Amino acid sequence: MEVSVAPIRSILTRSTGFLKTVTSHSAQPYRGCAFGNALCGVGCYVQHNHYLTRGRTWGAFLDVRENAAESYVKNAERERRWARRSRGSFGVFMSSSTEPFPPQEDRYRVTQGLLEAMLESPPDVLIAQTHTHRAAACLDLFRALAAACDLRVHISIETDRERVPGLPPHASRVAQRFEAARALKAAGVFTVITVSPLLPIRDPDAFFARAAASAHAVVLDHFVGGDGSAQGARTRNTPLPAAMAALDPESVSPRYRDRMVAVAKRHLTRVGVHIDGFAGRYLSDDLPP
Ligand code: SF4
Repeated sequence: MEVSVAPIRSILTRSTGFLKTVTSHSAQPYRGCAFGNALCGVGCYVQHNHYLTRGRTWGAFLDVRENAAESYVKNAERERRWARRSRGSFGVFMSSSTEPFPPQEDRYRVTQGLLEAMLESPPDVLIAQTHTHRAAACLDLFRALAAACDLRVHISIETDRERVPGLPPHASRVAQRFEAARALKAAGVFTVITVSPLLPIRDPDAFFARAAASAHAVVLDHFVGGDGSAQGARTRNTPLPAAMAALDPESVSPRYRDRMVAVAKRHLTRVGVHIDGFAGRYLSDDLPP
């Protein structure tokens, strides 16, 4: 992987498209993704964004936005005024097109610096979206941010299988991600398990029972209806659907998603589907966290 330092003009990007219904802004501490060659990178929706990749192979590059915190400090007040005026609140989704806690974070600490800057000048809403247990390294920062803004930490756990035949390994073991979620929840941080993309689950009842013990909510995001193209056409051109169908032919259809939603609802009060779930709009929302 080619890693390079590439300063950014503004770390706060005004949201467009579906993300507009979630938060006013997104923040990407890195460009590209260190997990592009891991299991989640196979069907990753972001790889189809040619503006972002600029012809580079997904998983082969990582641009480090070393000045992310400095940029936040410089731009937050202006963007806060704009967001409150035009979107109602200043919300940041970190991150929609990269992993904010890649192994390179140990060296560069871009995400940590950005979170520290946010603690000084908190957004109204912060959603931290990650695919790795490494997010728990910032547990103290998340705890402090939870007291300063409406914080949700989303940890993606797309299946209960540590290995999916035909696909590369996970970047972070399933057991470690559940453990990270549990630690965040125990620290008082609103924690959501995003089952995204929804893959074949060996024991759905046990999986969602474990999710209920580890998080306040789950979001199910199937590539059919979730990848931004009609009928999941973009993802159907990747190796992901064949690997899913080999385990469970029904798993590549919306019927499977609906069946998993029904199981999830047996275990959790807060169950979200697709973009509504990412926005915190759950199918049922009548219990306090
Ligand atoms: S961590 Fe997220 S952005 Fe990175 S490859 Fe996986 S799904 Fe895509």
